[in-house]
Amino acid sequence: MRMKNFNQTIQYLGIIGLIPLSSCVGKTERTREVHIAPNVIYVFPDQMRNCAMEFWHNENFLKFINFTADPVKTPNLNRFAEESVVFTSAMSNCPLSTPHRGSLLTGMYPHKSGAMLNCNSDRPISSLRDDVVTISDVLRDNGYECAYIGKYHLNFPTPNDPQNPGRYVENRDPVWDAYTPPEKRHGFNFWYSYGTFDDHKHPHYWDTKGNRHDIDEYSPKHEADVAIAYLENKNNERDATKPFFLVVSMNPPHSPYHSLDDCRKEDYELYKDKSLQELLIRPNVDLSMGKAKCAPFYFAHVTGVDREFGRILEAVEKLGLAKNTIVVFSSDHGETMCSHAATDPKNLPYAEAMNVPFLIRYPDKLVPRTVDYLLSSPDIMPTLLGLSGFGEQIPRDVQGYDFSKTLLTNKVKGAIPKSVLYIKNIDGDKNEEGKVISYFPVARGVKTSKYTLVLTINKKTKELDDVLFFDDEKDPYQMNNLDWNDFPEVRNMLLSELSGLLKKADDPWYRERILNEIIPY
Ligand code: CA
Repeated sequence: MRMKNFNQTIQYLGIIGLIPLSSCVGKTERTREVHIAPNVIYVFPDQMRNCAMEFWHNENFLKFINFTADPVKTPNLNRFAEESVVFTSAMSNCPLSTPHRGSLLTGMYPHKSGAMLNCNSDRPISSLRDDVVTISDVLRDNGYECAYIGKYHLNFPTPNDPQNPGRYVENRDPVWDAYTPPEKRHGFNFWYSYGTFDDHKHPHYWDTKGNRHDIDEYSPKHEADVAIAYLENKNNERDATKPFFLVVSMNPPHSPYHSLDDCRKEDYELYKDKSLQELLIRPNVDLSMGKAKCAPFYFAHVTGVDREFGRILEAVEKLGLAKNTIVVFSSDHGETMCSHAATDPKNLPYAEAMNVPFLIRYPDKLVPRTVDYLLSSPDIMPTLLGLSGFGEQIPRDVQGYDFSKTLLTNKVKGAIPKSVLYIKNIDGDKNEEGKVISYFPVARGVKTSKYTLVLTINKKTKELDDVLFFDDEKDPYQMNNLDWNDFPEVRNMLLSELSGLLKKADDPWYRERILNEIIPY
């Protein structure tokens, strides 16, 4: 880089040089710690569980986990894992689309981000707060170009269809899909997105200007094409002198996963001749569930997503961006797929729903390895800001933990989180029109490296209704719900840990002192 442009770059890109600007001028080249703000690419398919990645079968990774991975084919993730910091224990605290996405962008728990329940037109109380500072707001303020491609699902749907003003973008009741107008895009200045819509081969998107695009193509493929065009800057999508933050939110392997109408044939071919016993190998599955026949299509989507992620990585490589680009692969929550005979694919405290992929590659700064840190959804925003060199600019009301120093130094720095909070909210009261005007925090729990404890309360009495208590070390498939009276010391330790988490999060359970006689607030 020529000196003339160097100082411009310092001011423009928000350099983290740790040396005064004046000292850069007129000095001959010598060793100094200069760090140009990295690009950040965050790819997260919807509903992809952590065990649905093939590399977990490889002995280099297998030794870090105590479960058997799904029989999936993910060649691109296998390569990416070798180059990344791979988390065994990243958790989606409130394993549902909107709440996770709110935490991802804001670094806050759902009751603070405003996204407590999945957004739809019956739930005006759940929508990402306009006044919150998101990761994209911070990066944009520091000279980044910010792009969002794919599913957003963070806005309460309103009649604001840009092509039919005064109308919703769909006719369903309640309305789930939504158009996000520019004033609600939180720093994203390239937009190619929708609220929520589940037809993987006929997706639609609204672009930066609010024009709708209806596409007849597998959505991850199309979104990868748009992302690659953005990386190549084919149509001057971005100011190439600035770093960029690119989010790609793919809908598969979320349902539908019922037939070849949903996924690609070449991906389905990999699984179609396997029996259900060969596909759903977790010992906690109920193969008698009708849903079991979805397994080959779910895994076909996983392979489909892997292929498109691989294409994005290839473009990053070809463009010479790899070294100074942070690339994350994750998901908003997992998928039970017949484990625990659960009809709900998510929104449950089981590993299949909570434990998500989290791989982070940053060749300039991170040593590839596998770590067992308990990463919560609100930790992602401050960790990415810390890694990008904007640790000082993490907003004060962020609740997540910044893992960046630990990741950068490869040494545990300070007291890193020893547990994660589990959150389940349901609709509370409704008004005369049937609109949800409050939410009810029906369950809270704590997950440590060894145990899971979840308390569910009665909506009317707020008294204890149900306890789930698993020894995740001895019983990784969570098949044996223990009686906590048999383990008083562990029980008290977990309740104390839960109390600390609730207090720190300023959770409604803490504010109301829910189960005061049990939880030592
Ligand atoms: Ca989701």
